[in-house]
Amino acid sequence: MNKGMVYLVGSGPGDPKLLTLKGLDCIRKADVLVYDRLVSKRLLGYARTDCELIYGGKYPDHHILRQEEINQVLVAKALSGKVVTRLKGGDPFVFGRGGEEAEALVRHGIPFEVVPGVTSAVAVPAYAGIPVTHRDFTTSFAVITGHLKFDKAESSIRWDLISQAHGTLIFLMGMEKLPMIAAKLTENGRAPSTPVGLVRWGTTADQRTLTGTLENIVATARANNFSSPAVVIVGEVVNLREKLSWFERKPLFGKRVVVTRARSQASVLSEKIEGLGGEAWEFPVIEIVPPADYAPLDGAIGSLKSFTWLIFTSVNGVDFFFRRLKELGRDIRELTGIKICTIGPATKEAVEKYHLRVDLVPEEYRAEGVVELFKGRLTPADRVLLPRAEVAREVLPDALVEQGIAVEVVPVYRTIQVEAEGDQLREMLSQKLVDVVTFTSSSTVKNFVKLVGQEKLADLVAGVKIASIGPITSETARDFGLKVDIEAEKYTIEGLIQGMLQYFEQESVVSSQESE
Ligand code: SAH
Repeated sequence: MNKGMVYLVGSGPGDPKLLTLKGLDCIRKADVLVYDRLVSKRLLGYARTDCELIYGGKYPDHHILRQEEINQVLVAKALSGKVVTRLKGGDPFVFGRGGEEAEALVRHGIPFEVVPGVTSAVAVPAYAGIPVTHRDFTTSFAVITGHLKFDKAESSIRWDLISQAHGTLIFLMGMEKLPMIAAKLTENGRAPSTPVGLVRWGTTADQRTLTGTLENIVATARANNFSSPAVVIVGEVVNLREKLSWFERKPLFGKRVVVTRARSQASVLSEKIEGLGGEAWEFPVIEIVPPADYAPLDGAIGSLKSFTWLIFTSVNGVDFFFRRLKELGRDIRELTGIKICTIGPATKEAVEKYHLRVDLVPEEYRAEGVVELFKGRLTPADRVLLPRAEVAREVLPDALVEQGIAVEVVPVYRTIQVEAEGDQLREMLSQKLVDVVTFTSSSTVKNFVKLVGQEKLADLVAGVKIASIGPITSETARDFGLKVDIEAEKYTIEGLIQGMLQYFEQESVVSSQESE
């Protein structure tokens, strides 16, 4: 029988983008994914939909038993011919028991590969603005486990050497024994004034950093209820944080933002959020698919010469229109002489990708804006083609018809509800892990509500800020009883981002005034 394959993969310290390309490959090809507690849940979304997900989280009290169980799972799954990806926090061979897992695989003759990861020992200090080495302060760093036995009989730890031999000391799993660590280092010659940094949940929205000295860090940690998982950094380099802190200073740092747009469009928004230090969680609640019936569109494409204007109200409308044009064996030459209007800049850009110029874009990026723009510009001799979503507002066609202009509305796509990750979304909402939910269209609102459940909606979104791309979307949200906290002034993704930035800037001004 074909023995499968096991990849021991380091997932990095938390920020999912710190996974290596090779690690991503291994997630994508896994039949079985066994993941740890500190692995970002956002990485699980890269697994195939038919991939079996197994949680291998360990808790201190069942450490040994669980580790044996995990080894058994890896061996059994691989022996049944599966490709198993074992996803571990940080680097698999840095206090990750990756070595033990590899030994178990060797015992059973199972082929394996190790994919190193970005270890929290180095990356977490980096995200707190602490370089582990610096020419002016230290020439070395040591990474030490905090799971140490301190009683004399068992202790083989050379505290004298640990204290003196290296510049920067980095303790993982060190929070529980912090008082002992600080005491031993001082007893063995480290100055009580040596700077200490504690960074918990580094590289994530929950990152918190405390600094002090060997003398006072224990009291500071206690006063701030500081708990694991945290990296403890001892050494002069900790002071560099005052100058070099970068992640925690980003405007959306600490904010978990849910993106509800369709998967195909989500990344534009997610990347902007992440660039500003926020954590983007993509839970696409809608999917964009072809219309139930192409006949109206095909008819319009067959008689394009009879139209004088083509109005696009969304990027999807553009893409589905041109996709169909091509499928029907035609191309943009058919559009000669037809003027093109788009509702906003993103739609304009989408049209320009097909090497066409856009004649008009309204100042206000919604149907009302187009109506305003067309007043007096069109005559009854004009004929407008409006390719758009199967279900949409009637404002635009109604107003044009009222002006005596012939309009042909053809559905070119439709949005359908996606159920896929509903459980995880509800879970995050109920644990109050979400700061903002973004809506980029009325259909995202409707399907979000359906997914979350109307009955539980109020409880689940209590405390969550709702950010909407514009007044129509906001109105839909309010119809469902949602309070809209943030509304874009310009009805674009950039406008939505600006709205969030302004909101949180004001909020931080208010909270710093309150604490004065
Ligand atoms: N293999 C991992 C370490 C596993 S031991 C690595 O290379 O990073 C688990 C310890 O790692 C935790 O107790 C904590 O000390 C540290 N750790 C891991 N991720 C962390 C994070 N995001 N923030 C702070 N500490 C983290």
